[in-house]
Amino acid sequence: MTENGAQPQREVVDLLLVGAGPVGLYGAYYAGVRGLSVAVVDSLPEPGGQVTAMYPEKPIYDIAGFPSVRGRELVENLLAQAGQYDPLYILGEQATKLEALPSSSGPDRWQVTTSTGRVIDCGAVVITGGIGTFTPRPLPAGEELLGKGLSYFVPSLADYADTDVVVVGGGDSACDWVLALQPIARSVTLVHRRKAFRAHAATVEAVHRCGARIITDAQVTVLHGEGKVEKVEVQAKDGSTQVLPAQRVVAALGFLADLGPIRDWNVELHDNRHIVVDSRMATSVPGIFAAGDVTDYSGKVRLIAVGFGEVATAVNNAAVHLDPDAMLFPGHSTDQAPVPAAVA
Ligand SMILES: Cc1cc2nc3c(=O)[nH]c(=O)nc-3n(C[C@H](O)[C@H](O)[C@H](O)COP(=O)(O)OP(=O)(O)OC[C@H]3O[C@@H](n4cnc5c(N)ncnc54)[C@H](O)[C@@H]3O)c2cc1C
Repeated sequence: MTENGAQPQREVVDLLLVGAGPVGLYGAYYAGVRGLSVAVVDSLPEPGGQVTAMYPEKPIYDIAGFPSVRGRELVENLLAQAGQYDPLYILGEQATKLEALPSSSGPDRWQVTTSTGRVIDCGAVVITGGIGTFTPRPLPAGEELLGKGLSYFVPSLADYADTDVVVVGGGDSACDWVLALQPIARSVTLVHRRKAFRAHAATVEAVHRCGARIITDAQVTVLHGEGKVEKVEVQAKDGSTQVLPAQRVVAALGFLADLGPIRDWNVELHDNRHIVVDSRMATSVPGIFAAGDVTDYSGKVRLIAVGFGEVATAVNNAAVHLDPDAMLFPGHSTDQAPVPAAVA
């Protein structure tokens, strides 16, 4: 029962992926290839993990077969590729509890409970939790206007067209947002509390050239507006203040990452941060696999390309865990039925 006495929402799937980062999304595709019903849960409201949250507009140069692909485009392509198998996405909910459901007729099933009380009953779990649940560092001013003009990242550039935008921060994300928004917004102002920026030198140079207004040694102290952001008060180090019109504020102050509840799932951890896996990407608990940035083994390299390979291994081994008579090798995709026209 939930707190208000209602029955919790219950999903039943073959496989649950915990984390909708690039690795979890590719895992959803592979689960479909294996004929498994699949759910993907993520605490963030948007899929794409670190890519969506931290660098959607950056070109990525080391994805196999793509000399250059923007983060946003990579995530869209992963969603289209997985979409042919209709995965169930459960976004904005953290997977909090993992419990075994003992079975007398086969391997144990698993029950994962999310932060809203939803229960997911599944035969196997692949943890693709990356660097953990990441929480944006809050802007000290105006939290009550979150979602009403104030945001921590920019899911859709179109929402910023013809608006006055204030971007707060001095790192790569803040500078990237300025560069992405400057061509479409009415005005873009970057406010940073120091003189020097932490972002890559070439990015900082591009920001200085792009025509955005830059205010350094200053902080956003107040967001003004009735139910939505209308103006922003900026205070300089010398105590002087100025008020800028702004319908959108992007607080790009970084994220705090934490493995969170997964720590209590009894899978063996390394340094209390990463999950130890074997060559099947199996954790110390039968039926629980892991892939991507969250895993650790000797020689581990934390890259998207590596995570893609790991999750293909994890899902194929999970398929054998679910059906010990199944082949580990999934066959070649070139031998499979053509992709439906909508996503081809
Ligand atoms: C600025 C920057 C640039 C980068 N550039 C590159 C690059 O050029 N090439 C490259 O290969 N890599 C790059 N990386 C690294 C790359 O982004 C990561 O390797 C990749 O995102 C890992 O993918 P993942 O799916 O394993 O994890 P993540 O992307 O971290 O996704 C994990 C997801 O799991 C969710 N999650 C965690 N715990 C839970 C829970 N309990 N319940 C629900 N959801 C949960 C999180 O919210 C998150 O969305 C870069 C990283 C950064 C920050």
